[in-house]
Amino acid sequence: MNTIDKLTGLKGKKVLVRVDFNVPLKGSEVRDDNRIVQALPTIKKLLSEGARVVLMSHLGKIKWGKVDDEEIAKEKAKNNMEYVLPVLEKHLPGVKVYFSPETSGEKLAEHINALNDGEVLLVQNTRYEKGESKNSPELAADWAKDVDAFVMDAFGSAHRAHASTYGVPEILKKEGKQVALGYLMEKEVKNLGACVKGDEHPYVAILGGFKVSDKIKVIDALLKKCDKILIGGAMAYTFYKALGIGIGNSPCEDDQLDYAKKCYESGKVVLPIDNVCANSFDNPTEFKTVETNLETKESPIPEGFQGLDIGPKSVELYASIIKTAKLVFWNGPVGVFEKQEFKAGTVAVCKAITENHDAFTVIGGGDSAAAAKEFGYADKFSHVSTGGGASLEMIENDGHLPGIDVIG
Ligand code: AMP
Repeated sequence: MNTIDKLTGLKGKKVLVRVDFNVPLKGSEVRDDNRIVQALPTIKKLLSEGARVVLMSHLGKIKWGKVDDEEIAKEKAKNNMEYVLPVLEKHLPGVKVYFSPETSGEKLAEHINALNDGEVLLVQNTRYEKGESKNSPELAADWAKDVDAFVMDAFGSAHRAHASTYGVPEILKKEGKQVALGYLMEKEVKNLGACVKGDEHPYVAILGGFKVSDKIKVIDALLKKCDKILIGGAMAYTFYKALGIGIGNSPCEDDQLDYAKKCYESGKVVLPIDNVCANSFDNPTEFKTVETNLETKESPIPEGFQGLDIGPKSVELYASIIKTAKLVFWNGPVGVFEKQEFKAGTVAVCKAITENHDAFTVIGGGDSAAAAKEFGYADKFSHVSTGGGASLEMIENDGHLPGIDVIG
């Protein structure tokens, strides 16, 4: 692996670091600085070597093409990287941190070239540039021309071949300049790599969340590696329907029924045997915990009700399987964990996984990482990935992601 520790002669060099500062904001306030904190080891290492550090990241979405200029200006104002500046400064005491409101061209070059050794320049949101998401060669060339080296440390964006994650390192590599993965990337590649390889058995995956279609490719990949896949969340009801079990008003993706049936026939898929149901998602007033017999299809989810969490019997079943695992990969909450009435299943999954001290336990980012953090379990996992989409794609693609492969 081409990692940051292999970089040489960094003193006085301008190093462009693609970080993941796509942090949650409330107005202009950073609600969770975890992603900034996770990037610090790489930044500090470069500063300690006397490098001049240029930080680039996207922040939120700018819907180019679909909206008028006024809308774009609003989206830009909402996703302003300048909001990150004071938080970054707080985490880098004694370091001069500058901000470049310009995202390309002469002005940006001036800011980069004005840096002294051991100083940092934070650049405005890369998505202020229309060409970023399209991996525009002109934009990548503009970003590459004033720097001497590139470090990729944005795992959450490594599944995207954008100008800042792919175009720039591709150019610098061709020019014979140094490119490397940062410490955060190194950690992600190593830990998620264990789930990609799947050498430890029993290997148990827990997959939840809303849509089967979002997780098709990862289910396919995991069926080849795992011993059991425990299904939770709304996607369980697509599996129920595929087996001919009544789902009442539960959400279902009818175009995924054949796929769900095929997965179930592998014998590796485990479905909930009871569900916490309610008469409404938004305004539930009636609740029922319904036990369903998957063989006889007896006691389906009644009409007028929908499943919103796995029930206590399923929790017991899932915990007994998780207990035997040597390797656990979890992606997607098994219920509507944001609501008090439907969070018990997801809390129990966190508890069961973290009580298994013999297993290597990985959360594949996204909502499950948020849930584990909220319920106080995050630091008890072996690894909590910083990238939801990226961690799924890494498993789907046998460890390959554009932002990793380009570094080589
Ligand atoms: P995903 O982004 O696909 O991982 O889905 C996460 C979302 O799925 C969370 O916001 C959960 O509240 C939601 N979710 C989980 N279980 C259910 C369910 N049974 N019904 C509706 N939404 C659910």
